[in-house]
Amino acid sequence: DTGNSLFKRVLLKISGEALMGDQGYGLHPPTVARIAREVKSVSDMGVEVCMVIGGGNIFRGLAGSAQGMERTTADYMGMLATVMNALAMQSALEELGIFTRVISAIRMDEVAEPYIRRRAVRHLEKGRVCIFAAGTGNPYFTTDTAATLRANEMACEAIFKGTKVDGVYDKDPKKFPDAKRYETVSYDECLQKHLGVMDASAIALARDNDLPIIVFSLDEPGGFRTILAGQGTYTRVG
Ligand code: UDP
Repeated sequence: DTGNSLFKRVLLKISGEALMGDQGYGLHPPTVARIAREVKSVSDMGVEVCMVIGGGNIFRGLAGSAQGMERTTADYMGMLATVMNALAMQSALEELGIFTRVISAIRMDEVAEPYIRRRAVRHLEKGRVCIFAAGTGNPYFTTDTAATLRANEMACEAIFKGTKVDGVYDKDPKKFPDAKRYETVSYDECLQKHLGVMDASAIALARDNDLPIIVFSLDEPGGFRTILAGQGTYTRVG
């Protein structure tokens, strides 16, 4: 029974910055706990939940390479940052009684499970939240691409991208009061107009597999559950 959810299996993508609260860096445990409650409310409906969390609150490869670090090394540091975020989310979910697995694209068996697709599917079927960490395991990619890849592999019906605003706008709604929100927008329009939903490779991968991306606000309490029921405001990219 998935209640009034329109979806049975979904992937929630959040940036690392979503976990830092009002701080400029790192993890803010009360914020992690708040997002964990959103995930719990959906998991409690019987919806199978995958998560991909970025690492930008700790380290970004591009920032490292801009300061003279070798790019691939810096990217591996970024991937390790996503593992820290995944562990923080696991801890917050377990605090709420939700069973989770952190599944890493880079082997670190003492810390997280290695990624084995069939095993991950089995976890989902058993109602465990799967947090996919370490991105795709490859430098030069982002966690947006990792989210699209895992959502395809896990046969999720859509990616839910939780942001600070309630959808995709033609310009930054925090700066321009006349910014307009799209109800729906095509993948190609996102790419052509650089709408900043996700990076281009992630959008192209979603487009080529007809995977919808639903952009919504994670700042509204109960927002995730509302959006899964097809209510509230959001933008559907697809
Ligand atoms: N990263 C990578 N390969 C991946 C995913 C991530 O190299 O498949 C690195 C990359 O350096 C990136 C960092 O991990 O800057 C953090 O991920 P991202 O920037 O996507 O995090 P977000 O912006 O969502 O917080």
